Amino acid sequence: MIAIARADDWIVLKFGGTSVSRRHRWDVIGQLMRERAGEQQARVLVVVSALSGVTNELQAIVDHRDEAQAVAERIEALARRHQDFCAELQVDAGVLDARLAGLRALGPDPRRASDRLDWVAEVLAQGELLSSTLGVAYLRSQGLPVEWLDARDWLHAQALPNQNEWSRRLSVSCRYQGDADLRARFAGDARLLITQGFIARSEDGGTAILGRGGSDTSAAYFGALLQARRVEIWTDVPGMFTANPRLVPDARLLKRLDYEEAQEIASTGAKVLHPRCIHPCREARVPIWIRDTERPQMTGTVIDHRAATLPGVKAISSRRGIVLVSMESIGMWQQVGFLADIFERFKRRGLSVDLISSSETNVTVSLDPSDNLVNSNVLDALCADLAEVCRVKVITPCSAVTLVGRGMRSLLHKLTDVWTEFGRERVHLVSQSSNDLNLTFVVDEALAEGLMPRLHELLIHSGAMPVDEAEVFGPSWRQIDAADSVPRVASWWRGERSALLACAAKGTPRYVYHLPTVRKRARALADVGAVDRRFYALKANSNAQVLRALDAEGFGFECVSQAELDTLFSLFPRLDPTRVLFTPSFAPRSEYAAALARDVWVTVDSAYPLQQWPELFRGRQIVLRVDPGYGLGHHEKVRTGGREAKFGLPAEALPEFMAAARAADARITVLHAHVGSGILDVGHWPQVYAQLVNIADRIGTVSAIDVGGGIGVPYEPGGDPFDIAAFARAMAEIKSAWPQYALWIEPGRYLVAEAGVLLARVTQVSEKLGVRRIGADAGMNVLLRPALYNAWHEIVNLSRLDDPAGNAAEIVGPICETGDVLGRRRPLPATTVENDVLLVANAGAYGFVMANRYNLRELPQEEVLDD
Ligand code: ADP
Ligand code: ASP
Ligand code: MG
Repeated sequence: MIAIARADDWIVLKFGGTSVSRRHRWDVIGQLMRERAGEQQARVLVVVSALSGVTNELQAIVDHRDEAQAVAERIEALARRHQDFCAELQVDAGVLDARLAGLRALGPDPRRASDRLDWVAEVLAQGELLSSTLGVAYLRSQGLPVEWLDARDWLHAQALPNQNEWSRRLSVSCRYQGDADLRARFAGDARLLITQGFIARSEDGGTAILGRGGSDTSAAYFGALLQARRVEIWTDVPGMFTANPRLVPDARLLKRLDYEEAQEIASTGAKVLHPRCIHPCREARVPIWIRDTERPQMTGTVIDHRAATLPGVKAISSRRGIVLVSMESIGMWQQVGFLADIFERFKRRGLSVDLISSSETNVTVSLDPSDNLVNSNVLDALCADLAEVCRVKVITPCSAVTLVGRGMRSLLHKLTDVWTEFGRERVHLVSQSSNDLNLTFVVDEALAEGLMPRLHELLIHSGAMPVDEAEVFGPSWRQIDAADSVPRVASWWRGERSALLACAAKGTPRYVYHLPTVRKRARALADVGAVDRRFYALKANSNAQVLRALDAEGFGFECVSQAELDTLFSLFPRLDPTRVLFTPSFAPRSEYAAALARDVWVTVDSAYPLQQWPELFRGRQIVLRVDPGYGLGHHEKVRTGGREAKFGLPAEALPEFMAAARAADARITVLHAHVGSGILDVGHWPQVYAQLVNIADRIGTVSAIDVGGGIGVPYEPGGDPFDIAAFARAMAEIKSAWPQYALWIEPGRYLVAEAGVLLARVTQVSEKLGVRRIGADAGMNVLLRPALYNAWHEIVNLSRLDDPAGNAAEIVGPICETGDVLGRRRPLPATTVENDVLLVANAGAYGFVMANRYNLRELPQEEVLDD
């Protein structure tokens, strides 16, 4: 009698490129195979990708196929890479000999020259063949009896209607309906197997490819064929997140998803799962787990049909490289068959249309990025076809940004902030799918990445979702990352606890500034060699001792009001006025006059002052503030560029401004732009510099370029600090391109934010309708940022720093406003009582300077710690 394998005997594990590229990760793979095999006698099939980067290298061989010498060199480099890895694994490199011979033979293969797709497929397949061979050799050397399986013997490409030649070979789909007979035959008695992802047998018996990232789909096919207990996708992140964690560190782990949601997230851009891998598992009702090879103990994401379906935005994805084809009908208004005519042409070229929007005279569709579009001239051919029936315009490169979640239709009214966010940009197409799971916006590619964190903050991070959080949302990527790594820089205040408690004893609320931290930041900036001059924007914090410390560090100053100028000069009566910038905004004439009388640099950002008060500027050198056309920063209210913002001269107004300057006999010596505050992307300032250089060249009299400030700081513990080394490199690079201009910067927050804390005392502790509240004697009158910008500040109980965390509490101030909240959902100790000292961290910038006497409460105290 033949023993029939139990239907759920197999567990399929797939390991991606990074998961197979290091020895310790192969140890994890071996360990997992042992563990899974011990799970009720399961049999284990491991599907592997190529070592990371190898498929790209193979693709480069394909792309440079006319250069025989280059092809041979690339092949040798790949051979070395795998041999070196053998050495790391302490496996005899001889195990690769046959495979490497196969790879080398593909170089001089006659099919190379004749653009044969079967040759391309064979080349691309080599990465997985090599990695699986290596893995088997290593695990056997570790005593694990694994067998090697050729995936092509089990996965067979299936021709689909309207596939073109390219997709029939290089982006195939496979049959995955298994039966008891197949399962009985599969792999004989072997219990531990390793096979390749990404490859399959083509209809002609040769090799076919599942498309880039297709190893996930190989695992899903095997899972469905074998009716596996589950398919586990092991990668470099512990699951599917609410957004790409590399772009949005606050993205949260999605613990449970149903197949439809996962499908939508994967198809709209979340690379973590290949979009074609969900369908087979869904049909066969095989659950998918997503796990992290570096964090094998974490639970990750589970996708199955049992996940609770809750309404709300679950994820935001984006896809780059989208091509929009806009088609204007010519005199065929409402003509029957117009859509059929145009779509027939897409079909003819084997192109699948993704999003569609149409009106009476225009139809716009999007095409997904695929190698097919990039590597061939199919788009040109399509346009030529379409030109027969309509006027065609191709808009590219675009990105599609998609909000995924159930019940999107009923949520539209809650998306006001999202519309505002998009309203600033050019949206080419909006599409809402009738399955009510997806709302997509197509924008210029350059805009999408910057939008993602902002949208995430609006829709997910803020916790404004009507879903039961704990069931669906796990920790954020930032928290997972921080838990792994030692805290980057311990905050100074932890070491100054007793000094701070002594400060608090003198009276609260009180700001305390740590001068050594101010100096440290100042010196880090002073080390950025490409920058010629640094001006401290004293609106961030104008405490006299802070200003003295920065003066001693060689910083100049930037003032935005006459009062700031007066304060500065009364503190430093002999200050060289050329170390001072005056950057007013809609200030009265008298303030310009006062600043000019002091001989400081005066910034003008519209033609008005020059036209109306020319006598003030006669014979003067001035700074022109330009609006580069966009704003950036941590909150809408601090973005100072673009149409919404009152600051800066738009490029189109330059001729009028120059004429006014000429008429007033003023000379534009410095160009300036500042687009916002709280920016962490080091690429921003070089970009501004390049933009300003362009304008400077047009003006002709400019000798210095001030690229503004806005350098951000991490407000959340474990947040990435501003990468000053990368900033220095980027500035050096841009400066070497245009060395003829002096380069100025004017940071504020960066120098003082982390150096300051706010100390407050607990006034009351209460609970109302299930919400725990801790009152503080400082509210929005003392620290306005949380109320004004939804800013997040770390808050701790300094009196009980070592007590265990308690339930989430809202920290509220004494002001008669509902918005008087310093922090929500803070796990302050349960032991917190009246008179404890609370510390609000990173309050050195825009803290005291924004304090006010609302409710006629007194202003807070200020104090400095120095050593
Ligand atoms: P592998 O090589 O293991 O197949 P991939 O690079 O294909 O790994 O997929 C994992 C990557 O997917 C992550 O490192 C992450 O950058 C990216 N990614 C994009 N969107 C998401 C998302 N929503 N959740 C998780 N990861 C995502
Ligand atoms: N190695 C293939 C690629 O890089 C398949 C995969 O990793 O999923 O596209
Ligand atoms: Mg992948």
